[in-house]
Amino acid sequence: MDFQLSDEQKMYRDTLRAFVDKEIVPVAKEWEHSGRYPTEIVEGMKRLGLFGLAVPEEYGGLAADTVSFALTFEEISRGWMGIAGILGSHSVSCWMLARHGTDEQKQRYLPALASGERRTGIALTEPGAGTDLQGIRTTARRDGDDYVVDGTKMWITNARYADPLPVLVKTDPKAEPAHKGMSILLVPADTPGFTVTQDIGKLGYKGTESCEVVLDGVRVPESQLLGGVEGRGLQQALSSLETGRINIAARSVGIAQRAYDEALSYARDRTAFGQAIGEFQAVQLRLAEIAVKLQAARLMTYWAASRMDDGVRMDTESGMAKIFASEAALDCATDAMRIHGGYGYSTEFEVERLYRDAPLMSIGEGTNDVLRGVVAKALLGGTASIG
Ligand SMILES: Cc1cc2nc3c(=O)[nH]c(=O)nc-3n(C[C@H](O)[C@H](O)[C@H](O)COP(=O)(O)OP(=O)(O)OC[C@H]3O[C@@H](n4cnc5c(N)ncnc54)[C@H](O)[C@@H]3O)c2cc1C
Repeated sequence: MDFQLSDEQKMYRDTLRAFVDKEIVPVAKEWEHSGRYPTEIVEGMKRLGLFGLAVPEEYGGLAADTVSFALTFEEISRGWMGIAGILGSHSVSCWMLARHGTDEQKQRYLPALASGERRTGIALTEPGAGTDLQGIRTTARRDGDDYVVDGTKMWITNARYADPLPVLVKTDPKAEPAHKGMSILLVPADTPGFTVTQDIGKLGYKGTESCEVVLDGVRVPESQLLGGVEGRGLQQALSSLETGRINIAARSVGIAQRAYDEALSYARDRTAFGQAIGEFQAVQLRLAEIAVKLQAARLMTYWAASRMDDGVRMDTESGMAKIFASEAALDCATDAMRIHGGYGYSTEFEVERLYRDAPLMSIGEGTNDVLRGVVAKALLGGTASIG
C-alpha cells in the first residue's frame, strides 16, 4: 500500500507533462469546439513513441510498465481527454495482439503500430449488444481459406484510422455457451465491404471519432484470425480490457487534476463581496472535497497498475480503481463548475469540457454498475480479497 513513483517514472511523467503543457493545453479548447482533428498532437505522440506504449521492445515498442502507462493517460487527459482516446483503444489492441497474436501477426503488425505509422482500435460493441458481448450478431462464415464477415459495429473509436481493426465475430453462431464460438479477426481497412458509415454525435470525447462500421461480405484470409485458433475471441478481448480499465481510471485522474487546477486558480482570482471567493467556507469545502477525491483516485489507480506489474491477475483491482476514479472525475468536474459560477457554463472556460468528458469514464471498458457486480462476485466467491 506504500506507493512511490521510481525516479525513472518521475522523469517520464515530467517529459509528458512538458509535452502536454506545450502541445495540448494551448489548443484544446479551440480545437475541441471546432471539431478539428488534432493531427499535430498525433505527430507529437508519435515522436515520443507513445503509440508503442503497449508494444514489446523486440517489436520497437516502449513496453511501458503499467504505472507509466497510467501516467501517460493521466497527463494527456489533464490536457484534453479526447486525445487519450486516440492512444487508448490503439494501446488496448496492441496489448491484445502482443499477448494473443501468432508470431507472424506480431511481426507483420507490431513494428508499424509501435511507431504510429499504422494505427488501430478494437471493435466489440454492436447496435444491439455492448455489455452483453455474447449477444453480438456479427458472423464470420468459413469459405475455403477465407472468412466472410457480415455485421455492424457501433461506437468504434479510431475507426477511420484503424488498419487493421480487430473485430469480434461469431465463427460458430450456434455454440453453447456462446463464447466458445467467438473469435477476433484482424480486418484490413481496405478490404471491400468494410465501410465506416457514420461518426456518432457525442456530448464530449471529441478529437477522436467514434463510428458505426458496417461489414458486408468482408472477405479476410484465415491468417487474420487472432492467435490462429477459433473460439478464443471473447477471452482475448476481455483480458485486454484489464489494461483498458487502468487506462480509463488514469484518464479520470487527469480530468480530476485539471478540475482541481482550474478550481483552485479561479477560487484565488475571482472576487465577490470584496474578497477572493476562496475565502468563503462553502467554496473551501468544495475545493477540499475535489482534492481528497483526486488524491484517493490517483493512489488507487497507481496501486491497481502496480499490482498488474507484479504479474497478478487484477480485474478486481482495476475494476475498483476504474469505478472510484471515474465517479471522482465526475464529482470533481461538477464541483469545479460550481466554483466557477456562471463562467463554469461558458465555452470560454476549460471546466465545461471536463464536465462533458467525465461521464464517459463511467461507461467505457465496462459500465461502473457492471463492474460493481464483477467486484462483488470476486469478493463473495473468494477469488479476490482486499486489505
Ligand atoms: C464514446 C464512446 C466510445 C466507445 N468506444 C468503443 C470502442 O472503441 N470499441 C467498442 O467495442 N466499444 C466502444 N464503446 C462502447 C462501450 O464499450 C459500450 O457503450 C459499453 O460497453 C456499454 O454497452 P451499451 O452501451 O450497449 O450499454 P448496455 O450494455 O445496453 O447497458 C445499458 C445499461 O444497462 C446496465 N447493464 C447491462 N448489463 C448489466 C448487468 N449484467 N448488470 C447490471 N447492469 C447491467 C448498464 O450498466 C447500463 O446502465 C464506446 C462507447 C462510447 C460512448
